[in-house]
Amino acid sequence: MRNIYDLTIEELEEYFLSIGEKKFKAIQLFVWLYQKKIKDFSEITDIKKSVIERLKIDFTIGKINLIKVERDIEVNKYLFELTDKSLIESVLMRHDYGTSICVSSQVGCNMGCKFCESGRLKKVRDLLPSEIIEQILKVEEDIGEKITHVVIMGIGEPFDNYENVTNFIKIINNPKGLSIGSRHITLSTSGIVPKILKFADFPYQVNLAISLHAPNNEIRNKIMPINKVYPIEKIMDALKIYYSKTKRRITFEYIMLDGINDSKDNAEELVKLLKGINCYVNLIPYNETNNIEYKRSKKEKIDKFYDIIKKNNLNVTIRREFGTNISAACGQLRSKREDI
Ligand code: SAH
Ligand code: SF4
Repeated sequence: MRNIYDLTIEELEEYFLSIGEKKFKAIQLFVWLYQKKIKDFSEITDIKKSVIERLKIDFTIGKINLIKVERDIEVNKYLFELTDKSLIESVLMRHDYGTSICVSSQVGCNMGCKFCESGRLKKVRDLLPSEIIEQILKVEEDIGEKITHVVIMGIGEPFDNYENVTNFIKIINNPKGLSIGSRHITLSTSGIVPKILKFADFPYQVNLAISLHAPNNEIRNKIMPINKVYPIEKIMDALKIYYSKTKRRITFEYIMLDGINDSKDNAEELVKLLKGINCYVNLIPYNETNNIEYKRSKKEKIDKFYDIIKKNNLNVTIRREFGTNISAACGQLRSKREDI
């Protein structure tokens, strides 16, 4: 049986037409699902009984189970179990501008980045739109507030699950759905070039972040195997096309790894690479994990790296640290739980 949260409004309209009903029922149903947040179709009062009975036969509402929460002042970390017992996680962060959630898009990840817990755990499967949406619904229920920002930066490579992730975006963005503005949604990718090009034509103003993490192919090949398939110059070419179509500023994420990518030369090379591109550089202090030997760059190194980029008039920030105490880095809670 399908999960009702998997359907975009267009798909629901088609469904209603297929059972001989008017398509505007899709809008009514979206309001019940995402604004009134019903748990059972019987709670609906403005759709006739026979249609509600039909909905009950054709669909379920929600399937994932919250099994653990770690709480801190600014950040909560959630562990969910899916129907096939797979584990995924989400992180809630409180900012002065609102609340953001970092959602997972796959169980595990096949990109195999050397510094990443999720990459150590091979992909088991893609998440359905419903399983990504439910992370938001469950967290909103837990905190009793609306989530204002969504980042697709949890476990998984979203561009390795393109259809489901873009349907997820369509559903949460819908004004009758969760109504999360597209400018409040950010998708992060390790740089799957054909999907960057496809995303350039996706008609939603979603922010794109690229996990660059190195200023040249030599370093990037060592830490991100996917770079051998889509090297930096191919990513940059794709981003030029993406920018010409969307006019949206691109974010580059750069994890600071001690002795690997954090030298003065690396910073200068990064400046050369990004000069002239309308972008934002986000330096991320690496979250060390038990299973991986990389270390976080020293604070002075990070500051120096930042200064070089800033001096060259690129927009740059050092990411505020969230949740290092509660294993908030990508994949850490899940891998602790599975004890691997
Ligand atoms: N697969 C996508 C999105 C999920 S990873 C991507 O790679 O962009 C989200 C971000 O978390 C990436 O930039 C990734 O490099 C980073 N990340 C992974 N492990 C980390 C760690 N231990 N500390 C800090 N950032 C990490
Ligand atoms: Fe996958 Fe992103 Fe982790 Fe790389 S950093 S292994 S792409 S989740």
